[in-house]
Amino acid sequence: MTDKRDEYIIRLSGVEIGNHKYSMICDKAFFELTRLDEIEEGTIQVRIEMEKSAKMMSLQLHFEGDVTVVCDRCLDFLTFPLDFIDFLVVNFVSHIDESFENDDNIWQIHEKAHELDLTHFLYEAIELALPTQLIHSDDENGNPTCNPQMLRKLAELTSNKTEQTTEIDPRWNALEQLRIKN
Ligand SMILES: [Zn+2]
Repeated sequence: MTDKRDEYIIRLSGVEIGNHKYSMICDKAFFELTRLDEIEEGTIQVRIEMEKSAKMMSLQLHFEGDVTVVCDRCLDFLTFPLDFIDFLVVNFVSHIDESFENDDNIWQIHEKAHELDLTHFLYEAIELALPTQLIHSDDENGNPTCNPQMLRKLAELTSNKTEQTTEIDPRWNALEQLRIKN
């Protein structure tokens, strides 16, 4: 696996005060690099508009593309389109305040720092944008659009489980009869 992290680092040396634009692609290699387990593959373009001043940088990041995940119910692949905007404010400080708790969207960086590594920010933003339940949506009649074969297998497993439970029940019946005899 090649280390592609350089792509997600903004070099700060020589960047003038003012507005700057960047574009990055989060692809399969990115998701492997960041070990975002849920995501099998995907291509997300991130367009960044950065405004740099003497004291801070503010970034607006537009994420657009799709990711492929495994459906939690039928285990087939499932593609999610993503299109959202996130923000990041980076304050330049002369010394890093250890007690400062880095907020997700507000960071501190040393004023002499040479680079801004966005890898962590990018994958957290994508992870948060995904729904908590990764399953195929229902169709307009409210029926699941999951792999029908897998749905049948799941239904069989569920009914087998119910049968097993009824098979255990006779023991309780026996206990019940003992209780009656006494
Ligand atoms: Zn499914």
